[in-house]
Amino acid sequence: MKKLGFGFMRLPLLDGKEPTSFDKAQIFGMVDAFLERGFTYFDTAYMYHSGKSEEMLREALVERHPRESFLLADKLPTMFLKKPEDVPRIFAEQLTRTGAKYFDFYLLHCLDTENYAIAERLKCFDFVLEQKKKGLVRHFGFSFHDSAALLDEILTAHPEVEFVQLQINYLDWDNERVQSRLCYETAVKHGKKVIVMEPVKGGTLANIPPLAEQMLKEREPSLSVPSWAIRFAATLPEVMMVLSGMSNRAQLDDNTSYMRDFQPLDDEGRALCMQVRDIINHELEIACTACHYCTDGCPAGIAIPEYFALYNQKAEKDKYDDIAAENGKASECLSCGQCEDHCPQHLPIIGLLQRVAAKYEAE
Ligand code: SF4
Ligand code: SF4
Repeated sequence: MKKLGFGFMRLPLLDGKEPTSFDKAQIFGMVDAFLERGFTYFDTAYMYHSGKSEEMLREALVERHPRESFLLADKLPTMFLKKPEDVPRIFAEQLTRTGAKYFDFYLLHCLDTENYAIAERLKCFDFVLEQKKKGLVRHFGFSFHDSAALLDEILTAHPEVEFVQLQINYLDWDNERVQSRLCYETAVKHGKKVIVMEPVKGGTLANIPPLAEQMLKEREPSLSVPSWAIRFAATLPEVMMVLSGMSNRAQLDDNTSYMRDFQPLDDEGRALCMQVRDIINHELEIACTACHYCTDGCPAGIAIPEYFALYNQKAEKDKYDDIAAENGKASECLSCGQCEDHCPQHLPIIGLLQRVAAKYEAE
């Protein structure tokens, strides 16, 4: 199995402000090219693209290619579960939405302290094992956004889990909050294979400071900046798959060019990534991955990740004004906290919005 997976989380859109306005012609072409080049792994989730990613995957992949020609991963949205009946209801809905008949990989989505408690209370681990016995799930895992200590606790309590999906990238490798390295080492200690999410950190590692870019280009002029991030993750020996949320054909062509015959980074290449990390850390103020988990339930309709991107880019006020004209302003935050409950990066969003407002709304 080649180590690059196609994530259906940041698909090409006709209208960048409308997450369900899929550019179907482009998506169909990307899926076909991905398969033609020998890649087989696709990843979706109940909540991606405002709940429409699974249906888009059915149209682009399941209805157009033999079921045995691809591997499909989907996820149980633990954060949406309220009562026991929700678990089988959503699982059945996912089978219908994708039309996939079974899931090759099925994950409890986004386990952290809160969602793990939900998964235990509603017996989600037992439920997925039952689906495995029925042949509706082939491999059982979970995606994870918390400390290595909690990961150790879960894997000790649930040895039946076969793999874990972790946020691993060279920027977060030794980050105290994300704990990429510690989480990876914990998974390895428990004998689990690892699937990597956010290898490019929501695009952060595609647009790096000029000095950092120059260092990478001097080492390998023909390879793109994001290739370093994908290859860094894929080099880890227990990583079985690196997911990339490809947003256009150019990204897919680039990713598949170097992952078709993947060559791991050597020690010098990995050390160079650490040097680049230090340069980025010096400049990056808000570590948002633009996943949009925070925005769906925001009562003030605030464009949280867009504002954070502007802030990081040190963009001009007129760009902020353009976005604020069609969304809530940063200063209109009600401090309800629902966004912070859903942020997998555990960012202090309310306080960060105050910084955005101070920068862009002061006269
Ligand atoms: S805390 Fe502010 S930004 Fe977050 S959901 Fe509430 S209103 Fe929206
Ligand atoms: S603030 Fe958090 S939840 Fe919102 S887009 Fe950024 S990383 Fe995702």
